[in-house]
Amino acid sequence: MRWMTFEHNGKTRVGYLQADHVQPVAATDLFQIIAGEGTDPAGTPIPLTDVRVLAPLRPPKIICVGQNYMDHCREQNVEPPKKPLLFSKYPTCVIGPDEPIRWPKGLTEQVDFEVELGVIIGRRARLIPEEDALDVVFGYVPVVDVSARDLQFGDGQWMRGKSLDTFCPLGPVVVTRDEVPDPQNIPLKTRVNGITYQDSNTSEMIFSVAHLISYMSQAFTLEPGDLILTGTPHGVGVFRDPPVFLQPGDILEVEVGDFGILRNPVGEMLTP
Ligand code: MG
Repeated sequence: MRWMTFEHNGKTRVGYLQADHVQPVAATDLFQIIAGEGTDPAGTPIPLTDVRVLAPLRPPKIICVGQNYMDHCREQNVEPPKKPLLFSKYPTCVIGPDEPIRWPKGLTEQVDFEVELGVIIGRRARLIPEEDALDVVFGYVPVVDVSARDLQFGDGQWMRGKSLDTFCPLGPVVVTRDEVPDPQNIPLKTRVNGITYQDSNTSEMIFSVAHLISYMSQAFTLEPGDLILTGTPHGVGVFRDPPVFLQPGDILEVEVGDFGILRNPVGEMLTP
């Protein structure tokens, strides 16, 4: 199933896709769906043209993986890592489709895009063996790991450059894992103003989704709704010649498999 959170007639609702309609259900947020509650239809299907799609949820934790694609290591001339490189983004950076990516004027000059396969955890998980790891997945979702490169590389660690408000576009739908038999064979694409910059496949991942979940769960508990960003393939702006960075007025679009286009404009910079 393909779940979405949306606004209709001023109310936030949850539903599942049925062609060009969304079927609302009793649940009022995606956490209830993840828990298996409130999945019964509530009302008639609504045309997608009549709703505003929101971010599917605000995850309790966002755990990210750096340098997890072979093609991304090649474009930087770096050795593939021996173990996953983990970092995090704050949940306050999540936005939904069509919401603008914005940042304070003067804070950064190097805002970059990273399309990623997002993984939503479906149940509490600790010390999970790799062979059981995909069982704890609720579903998969397109996500952008927007990154301020000057802050990321200038700070000595990545937290600030990765966690600016609006730096985690998420959606439009969460595709449940039964519809994704092999998370290691999903195409990913990024376009800015219609020009393709990233075009790869999750088959380029160094550490698989199952390995990442198992690895993380040795160190900390994964909980329902937690979001894992599994890394980005080659083609990001900072390693291009000349480099490409997002500017106000740009339109960023990413695609992960056939999960729908995640489109976000870059808005005007924030001023005090
Ligand atoms: Mg990333």
